[in-house]
Amino acid sequence: MKREEARLRELGLWPPHGLMPHLPAIMQPAAPTPTSAPEAMPVGKPASAPPVPMPATVPRTVALPSVAPRAATAEPTAPSDPQSALATLDWPGLDAAIRACEACGLCRSRRQAVPGAGSRTARVLVVGEAPGAEEDQRGEPFVGRAGELLDQMLLAVGLDRRRVYIANVLKCRPPENRNPAPEEIVACSPFLRRQVALLQPAVILALGSFAARTLLGGEGKVGALRGGSHLYEGIPVVVSYHPAYLLRSPQEKLRAWEDLCRLQDALGSPADRPSTASSAGTPRGPGATP
Ligand code: URA
Repeated sequence: MKREEARLRELGLWPPHGLMPHLPAIMQPAAPTPTSAPEAMPVGKPASAPPVPMPATVPRTVALPSVAPRAATAEPTAPSDPQSALATLDWPGLDAAIRACEACGLCRSRRQAVPGAGSRTARVLVVGEAPGAEEDQRGEPFVGRAGELLDQMLLAVGLDRRRVYIANVLKCRPPENRNPAPEEIVACSPFLRRQVALLQPAVILALGSFAARTLLGGEGKVGALRGGSHLYEGIPVVVSYHPAYLLRSPQEKLRAWEDLCRLQDALGSPADRPSTASSAGTPRGPGATP
């Protein structure tokens, strides 16, 4: 028996397929359920999909043709530095820039861009990969099956989706929910960077390898990055599995639960400002309220 397995067994956490009474119901590793609408899942690529290299830092030299608010009389110009073009935008301006963006080919296949959703005073920023079919249709992130699981996971640690801010690396749906292409990530990353700057979250929850690599650079896998101490612009980043992956691999829910506990620890106090009494000392485990 491997050491880790023995340790988990001692803690009553092994085998992972068994019920774990101390975990909230949603984090129980139920048997995988066949997905009736795989096309609605924005991630879900086979494990053998080739790794896509991520930019180590948010690029500063990509032209974003339509991010700058244009004066009525001014000629439209492509800013040479997309980050500085975004730097003065407030939330409504940023959302408008995202919705109007034509910096990559995804603008031709999207129904609409999906800037993000949630509280603009949240202390938690959740970052996913890219909108899927349902998100593309509704204009909101994480509203498909993966989104339902995300909601339940957040609730398990006392976080309501309306009290966090949820965004994606890509703001537009890749056709057939394929992996984000490196150039799409490069083109879209300034938006995420500006979202972080505006929100100034206390913690970022990076879900899946695209979110983790975009924020942290490198090409690490979630399995290697999770549990580590990471910072993005000085903000702690908790890396965890993408909910779509958890739907296919429920045996990893225990690890995802550990990550959520890390998120809660990093947060340390209520999830949004101005603080209310509601989430301080949120209980974990069986007594926790979803
Ligand atoms: N929905 C999103 O908005 N993002 C994801 O990464 C997955 C589903």
